Amino acid sequence: MKLTVDNIARLLGVSSSSGREIVTLLTDSRSLCEPETTLFFALRTSVNDGHRYVADLYRRGVRAFVVERVPDIMSGVDDADFLVVADPLEALQTLGAYVRSTVDIPVVGITGSRGKTIVKELVYAALLKAGRRVVRSPRSWNSQIGVPLSVWNLEFDTEIAIFEAGIDHPGQMQVLRDIIRPTIGVMTYINGEHDAGFIDRESKVEEKRRLLSGCGVVIEGDDNRRIAADILDALGESRDLLDGIDEVSTRLDVHDGVNDSLMIFDEFTADAPSLLSALDFMSRRKTASRRNTVILGDLLHRDGEDIRTVYREVAAMLRLAGIDRLIAVGKEISACADVFDPLIAVEFMDSVDRFLAEYDVSRFDRELILIKGKRGAGFDSIMRRLESPRHQSILEVNLDAVVDNFNSFRALLKPQTGMVAMVKASGYGTGALELAKTLQAQGAAYLAVAVIEEGVALRRAGITMPIMVLNPVSTNYQALFSYNLEPAVFSLRELRMLVNEASRFGLEKYPVHIKFDTGMHRVGFIDDEIDSLVRLLKSTDTVKVASAFSHLATADCLDEDAYTESQFEAFDCMTGALASGLDYPFKRHILNTAGIMRYPDRQYDMVRLGIGLYGISPLPPEATCISLRTVAKLSSTIISLKRWPAETTVGYSRRGVLARESVIATVPIGYADGVDRHFGCGNARFVVNGCLCPTVGNICMDLCMIDVTDAGASIGDRVEIFGPDAPIESLAATLGTIPYEILTSVSPRIHRIYFRE
Ligand SMILES: *Cc1c(COP(=O)(O)O)cnc(C)c1O
Repeated sequence: MKLTVDNIARLLGVSSSSGREIVTLLTDSRSLCEPETTLFFALRTSVNDGHRYVADLYRRGVRAFVVERVPDIMSGVDDADFLVVADPLEALQTLGAYVRSTVDIPVVGITGSRGKTIVKELVYAALLKAGRRVVRSPRSWNSQIGVPLSVWNLEFDTEIAIFEAGIDHPGQMQVLRDIIRPTIGVMTYINGEHDAGFIDRESKVEEKRRLLSGCGVVIEGDDNRRIAADILDALGESRDLLDGIDEVSTRLDVHDGVNDSLMIFDEFTADAPSLLSALDFMSRRKTASRRNTVILGDLLHRDGEDIRTVYREVAAMLRLAGIDRLIAVGKEISACADVFDPLIAVEFMDSVDRFLAEYDVSRFDRELILIKGKRGAGFDSIMRRLESPRHQSILEVNLDAVVDNFNSFRALLKPQTGMVAMVKASGYGTGALELAKTLQAQGAAYLAVAVIEEGVALRRAGITMPIMVLNPVSTNYQALFSYNLEPAVFSLRELRMLVNEASRFGLEKYPVHIKFDTGMHRVGFIDDEIDSLVRLLKSTDTVKVASAFSHLATADCLDEDAYTESQFEAFDCMTGALASGLDYPFKRHILNTAGIMRYPDRQYDMVRLGIGLYGISPLPPEATCISLRTVAKLSSTIISLKRWPAETTVGYSRRGVLARESVIATVPIGYADGVDRHFGCGNARFVVNGCLCPTVGNICMDLCMIDVTDAGASIGDRVEIFGPDAPIESLAATLGTIPYEILTSVSPRIHRIYFRE
């Protein structure tokens, strides 16, 4: 869409006489690309305020803004257009609704918990095959902001539009519906997740259903391909168009590459609009010390469309994105070599195989590399070739799964109950920092770590939310206080030292958390000590009780309810005594993950969520009331493959004896990485190409061997130690331990990779 500022002003009910043409709407200053024709909306969210970026954007050339107020430093600026409105988000939505009203075409609106993007991309790719001009939401832009931005992409010649609508609070769908106004309404699979803002699942479903109201056609189901086929039917297109179209991967992965390069691997629908959003993602990872390289395959385009037009547009995008080097891998793109800018280094080759045969890793040095090509066209081999060899073994952490798990537990809580997110022991082995950033954004009340050093590391990395330190037995009070870490206190001795130090530092009302021992018999104040505790607390105003808590010993033991009840009673009694001794209120909390699932009446003011956040239930499956998503995947890769006759022995002490002729793979991960030696000799099975492959012989320090005879394996194939396909629970059972131990044992030398879907 293209509109002039005065036209937009009229739509928003404000005045402007500026004829400036607007092509791009911007809400995130990091995505700026063509400043002269951009209109920036200064949105206010719970974590940020767009008005902060106005001055910077002006400096970078933006001249049109929708704001609540003109920032002071911009007063006197007379060569920019400021449209002052009551609510810039509402203004953006009004503009979206207007753009929608300018077209009279079939519009598909898709909502649901899972599969929205997959269905949308399937239909999109099918319609391109039919030669239709389609506009669809970029990636998964489906929010209150994403939807109007998506609708803005409508053009006068668009024939069909497909938009996603996602919500997390009541009342939001009506707004999205009024912008999208779908003629075909689609509801994909709905599950119990993302329930945070809703009282229950029914009210969420009801809210989602609002999208469908008024649609001529309504399609529902939980089979993505089937839904896509039904949409094609409703559009009067052939279902057969879907033949040969694979479901896209919605992930954008970031990997370390050879020679200090960083790679972004993108297997989303390979077309020009998605290249644009991948370039945007890339621009946020740019640094001055790295060259910017794009390895690009043939792009999907409308059947019958002139491919030179497509690649001319691509060339313009690459130039605007400041790309230094293009390696084009494909027949079509190579045929258009002449449209690419001579200012950037360009190389063309007609196939991935050529690339693999001709490209040596030494040709990449300190580069930020975006790899984008059609799924199944082999671009994953390019990625693997360029992957840093140090990181053959990785722990992948799905931050979206963390958020989903957080929300699933949130849904079990009363609205006023706070969530303490446990990120001790490096986030149960997954890495505390990324987790902390994610949970801070998600609205946890507290983070909890075990030791002061963990808290300091989080503060240094910019975590500002309250942090509780559970076992702060340390003399480093300086660090405790200066990093604003709140200690748990479990003995009079500790409390006295803390009070002394706090007064030495001149502190007042420093928050502390009183730990009671109600039955774990590990640490904590017991009945006899409460009088002295109260006396000490009343004698000083250097510290103040922020909360009192205790820890359950048997919340996960289904036959120990009586014991747990006795802990609750002791807790009530002890916190009662503390409360009557103090003249101010404090919070109480006792539930861990198992407790949250089993004792909804004992939430008090906060709960402490640990293992559940990481997608693991401490309860047996039949007692687990919510579905959790796997967060962590430990995997390595096959580096050697040999076929041996029966009777061959493998590994140290000849402990692996082959019963049949076998293909044995060597995998560079061993007990020093956290793969326990007791997993050797067939005691555990790792997953290769969906096939369970038993270990053979002893696990070595840095390597292990597995039997891949039935897995059709090749060198470079991934080996999943635990993850979505190899439940960590089974590994734990093999060792007679709990998943907590397996997860926290993954050695720090294993590279952690974080991703969002
Ligand atoms: C680790 C820990 C938790 C969390 O336990 P999970 O079983 O992982 O939920 C809660 N409270 C305290 C005091 C802990 O040390």
